[in-house]
Amino acid sequence: MQTNFSAEQLKDPATAEADKILRACVHCGFCTATCPTFALLGDELDSPRGRIYLIKDMLEKGRPADALTVKHIDRCLSCLACMTTCPSGVHYMHLADMARVHIEKTYPRPLADRLLRALLGVVLPYPNRFRLALAATRFAAPFTALYPRLGRAGQRLAAMMRLAPRTLPSSPAFPRSAPPSSGKTVARVAILSGCVQQVLRPSINDAAARLLARLGIEAVSVKEEVCCGALLHHLGKEAGALAQARRNVDVWSAEIGRQGLDAIVITASGCGTMIKDYGFLLRNDKAYAAKAARVSMLAKDVTEFLATLELPEPISLQGITVAYHSACSMQHGQKIDALPKQLLRQAGFEVRDIPEGHLCCGSAGTYNILEPEIALRLRDRKIANIMKTSPDLIATGNIGCMSQIASGTSIPLFHTVELLDYAFGGPKPKELNLP
Ligand code: SF4
Ligand code: SF4
Repeated sequence: MQTNFSAEQLKDPATAEADKILRACVHCGFCTATCPTFALLGDELDSPRGRIYLIKDMLEKGRPADALTVKHIDRCLSCLACMTTCPSGVHYMHLADMARVHIEKTYPRPLADRLLRALLGVVLPYPNRFRLALAATRFAAPFTALYPRLGRAGQRLAAMMRLAPRTLPSSPAFPRSAPPSSGKTVARVAILSGCVQQVLRPSINDAAARLLARLGIEAVSVKEEVCCGALLHHLGKEAGALAQARRNVDVWSAEIGRQGLDAIVITASGCGTMIKDYGFLLRNDKAYAAKAARVSMLAKDVTEFLATLELPEPISLQGITVAYHSACSMQHGQKIDALPKQLLRQAGFEVRDIPEGHLCCGSAGTYNILEPEIALRLRDRKIANIMKTSPDLIATGNIGCMSQIASGTSIPLFHTVELLDYAFGGPKPKELNLP
């Protein structure tokens, strides 16, 4: 694609990067075939190619974002299916990130929109605030049916109610340090505590730490770490996201200096995609570039890390069928697709692929709150596809997808590592009601 940035514009490293990405696009349109919003809405401007044109025009002209561009970029899930499909290696993720930052800086959103985005940004990344907010939803939940009558703001409120669990789990979160159960220590890793996940499902990191301990891995959670920054990043709040990234780089680098880390193990693929990108995000920060690149190199999805270990014989599981939902951040963001399924099969589960597995479930960070109509249609399409596999259980590797899919089905949902922990000698998850 021909671009027309001025020499002056190209002095800015972000613009130079955008130029490089845009030039790689040959506007072949292959990416439209796997884009969920194009599949649903059929509008070229809701396809990756259409969005790329909108972003190009906005950045080249150096103009403030307009309502049309904002509408179509907001509708993008950042699912990155287009990056998997693109034959030219167009890095749509970085281009869309730049567009979101530009929008945040130049577009005056309506007040209700600004307030909601600000609220999500100051609540979700902080576990204690998030816990309090969930407690507050109990008072608002009885009126959920009325909210959609209040227009777009009401639909977003109804989406929040739909996603908020009725009760919160009481099981203790993974302790600060879990030594190997026996024998010699094979490796030492940090497990990311995460923000939303440690409130909604602390049993995920409990399972990961237990399984790793049995395999001779010492797992620690570094006390001062914060949210990975993905939530703010997807809202276009660049300064806040980078501050969180720098903080994590600092605390993990300090831990590497103290006792060493062989990996930073992540049990939420949305966070994994973000942390693996720290090296890129902080590449122009002289004080952080090298440290951030090192952290990104150490970041591993829990299944990725488990695949490097020798696993014991699993317990005997009799014909339990699992529909494996490959989260977008896992399959498109980190290019990890077959591995979790292989591990589940090795554990004795009968794993079934979900038709249209490349399509997003509609979760996408805060997308299911901010764009509830599209998110709901994608969720229902995902569940209909899951039902075609007649599963006993659903497994996935991202808490956002778990909440989104669980809001529309009664089929029990598990994180992949919860099932692996059970199959390889851990306790039976209490939600697993099978013979
Ligand atoms: S598939 Fe890639 S090269 Fe083709 S239009 Fe989409 S982004 Fe551009
Ligand atoms: S990230 Fe997903 S929704 Fe956005 S353009 Fe790419 S395929 Fe479409």
